[in-house]
Amino acid sequence: MLFFTLRKDRLPEFLDAVSKHYSLIVPEQKGSKTYTFRQYTEFSKVSLEFIRTIIPPKKFIFPPVEKLFSADKECRIDASYEDAPFSIIFGLHPCDIHGIEILDKAFSYGGRDSFYWRRREKFGFIGLSCLPDKYCLCKSMHTDFIESVYDIFLYTLDDVYMVSVRTALGDDMLRLCPDLFNKPAKEEILEYKERIQIRDSMFTRIMDTTNLADLLTLEYKNDIWEEYSRRCLFCGSCVMVCPTCQCFDVYDSPDVIAGSSLRIRRWDACMRKDYALVTGGHNFRGGRPERFRFRYLHKETGFGEMHGKASCTGCGRCSETCPAGIDMVEVVRRIRE
Ligand code: SF4
Ligand code: SF4
Repeated sequence: MLFFTLRKDRLPEFLDAVSKHYSLIVPEQKGSKTYTFRQYTEFSKVSLEFIRTIIPPKKFIFPPVEKLFSADKECRIDASYEDAPFSIIFGLHPCDIHGIEILDKAFSYGGRDSFYWRRREKFGFIGLSCLPDKYCLCKSMHTDFIESVYDIFLYTLDDVYMVSVRTALGDDMLRLCPDLFNKPAKEEILEYKERIQIRDSMFTRIMDTTNLADLLTLEYKNDIWEEYSRRCLFCGSCVMVCPTCQCFDVYDSPDVIAGSSLRIRRWDACMRKDYALVTGGHNFRGGRPERFRFRYLHKETGFGEMHGKASCTGCGRCSETCPAGIDMVEVVRRIRE
């Protein structure tokens, strides 16, 4: 890993240079308080101060609706997809980069998911540091820093970005305009360390994750699940905005007139009543408390057992989005009481 500095007023030049060589995706303001990742057009539209987008950047790698293949009336299979150019996503915060790492694990478990990886391999990532708001939980989830997946990471200081270059792709991007980058001065290194400490002290939302996976298993029959499931609307919003939820449904869309068919996968949500509905009308998780509890157990216990870490990055999207005001921190605190 190499470190450089980039003057803040030279960032537009860097992004312009990157956009000339790669398809560049950046965070932009969408509504009065909402943000989204979009194709880069001009630097003035790039949001550097956003906390989180509504939908995480997983939408590019694991699209909400995706054609898997089509078959014509002669049963010829077409599994091609719109071959997008190699893209760089700029402005990813540590939690969302952790989210991509979690998706990588999920879509490699028991064999590589070729539909996921054919897109994933066409993305590079430029991370950007951030400051926490009242929903950020990444410190508790140990995802407030990232040392993997990204190609370049920019840590915001007063006048410059401290630039961490992790991969050959990151090095290639720097070489597009090498004059913009300098070796960090001693004062800048000190400022970088101070900034990390200041940011660390700004977290107001803390969740006790000690032995959480075991605790949730032991509290399988706790009345809390019933209580919160009466409040939950089972709208699935918490799942749709989560950077690590990766459940999908696969269905066929036949065209009877043409004699062809399309196989599609689309995001699904374990909170939905028909998620575990199978042929014959049996539902493995039809009850409200079971569905509410499952999401917590899967994130903390199930995924953790398979991959050695929980599948929550503490991004805060679910708590900010929930129309019923259900907050994971509160649920866990109540379970610990
Ligand atoms: S967003 Fe809130 S109300 Fe909707 S399913 Fe999730 S926990 Fe329930
Ligand atoms: S569970 Fe909530 S806080 Fe955790 S990664 Fe998903 S949306 Fe973010």
